[in-house]
Amino acid sequence: MRNLWVNTDRIGADLDALAAITDPGRPWTRRAFSPRFDQGRDWLRTRFAQAGLRVALDAGGNLIGTRPGTDPDAGTILLGSHSDTVPDGGRFDGVAGVIVALEVARMLDEQGIQLRHTLEVVDFLAEEVSVFGVSCTGSRAMAGVLPDDWLGLIHEGRSLDQAIRDVGGDATARARRDDIRAFLELHIEQGPVLEAEGLDLGIVTAIAGIERIEIVLTGRPDHAGTAPMDRRADALVAAAALVTAIDAEAQARAQGPDHFTATVGEFSIEPGAANVVPGRVRMLIDARAEARPEMEEFLRWIEDRLTALPDGITAESRLLSDNRPTPMNEGLVKQLEVASTNCGASHRRMVSGAGHDAAFVAQIAPSIMIFVPSRDGRSHCLEEFSTTPSIALGAEVIADAVIALDKQKGN
Ligand SMILES: [Zn+2]
Repeated sequence: MRNLWVNTDRIGADLDALAAITDPGRPWTRRAFSPRFDQGRDWLRTRFAQAGLRVALDAGGNLIGTRPGTDPDAGTILLGSHSDTVPDGGRFDGVAGVIVALEVARMLDEQGIQLRHTLEVVDFLAEEVSVFGVSCTGSRAMAGVLPDDWLGLIHEGRSLDQAIRDVGGDATARARRDDIRAFLELHIEQGPVLEAEGLDLGIVTAIAGIERIEIVLTGRPDHAGTAPMDRRADALVAAAALVTAIDAEAQARAQGPDHFTATVGEFSIEPGAANVVPGRVRMLIDARAEARPEMEEFLRWIEDRLTALPDGITAESRLLSDNRPTPMNEGLVKQLEVASTNCGASHRRMVSGAGHDAAFVAQIAPSIMIFVPSRDGRSHCLEEFSTTPSIALGAEVIADAVIALDKQKGN
């Protein structure tokens, strides 16, 4: 491995400093739209300014540090991720990508490297599901696809519109960007693959599409002691068979070449009493696929299953959300492979099963993500951990790619 130009100790110190800004007694909690989040942002704003970046907020409430390029017409290379966290987890999730972006800017200055492109370091607002129940708020705004009706969502008497204003944005102002020539996001893998295979980096080829499907099964509530076993319409028994079938179907699809998962993560029964045959079940399926046709097959498979339920059981299903898979830019995939090799980082291509800001930025600009290993594949929990050297190596790879992209004609 070549000697790194990025400063590993400085990356480690920044990660520690941001991790220390957490709700008291609750590591590592800095949820969007909370006072703790604002504290984290204040710290970042200071660090951006110390690095010589021009600091501003865009209309979507994203914190942006700018390093002007020499050619005003060359456009912008955007680096970054998000600094907000889920409750009780998120020491590296998002944060690593923001600190790496900052470090790349600092390193370019120290090496005296002037870019043609403007370089921007971004901390996207509210990537995680916030108290308003929605995610990727800032990146959707930057892509011009933040739904208008979201602005009216209310939490504890405050609207999302007001919450974005309170961090310094104005989501009613159209914020869609058209100057971004490339977006590069480093993120922790949040899965076990890189660690298991002993690899330094994952180069993301696509972000899986995500469907949420609500199914309600209705049977007939009856007395648990007097209703004969052969004359029941037990909604839970039918639902249990359905859950098992969904898992088997997903297991089979996961054997194929494309990433596929399906999970029943919410499940409730009514009336929910020991002496009553369950009359109603509600379940929520989270299904994720790299390939859209496979998702459509799965949705048809569910509809077929729902027409073949036991006597007396009826079903209703509803697609609650429908996010298409997002391929990453093929040219950037190749560029990151070259950069990884240049930096001596072992790597593989992989699909992200989790959603990310890059899925939205990809709608307005060529985008790419790289993953660094997560210890035991854990994330969104206290144990979430990635080593500083692995993150620094990722920073070096991003820096190598940025310098190469800056030199390319037509970029
Ligand atoms: Zn994240």
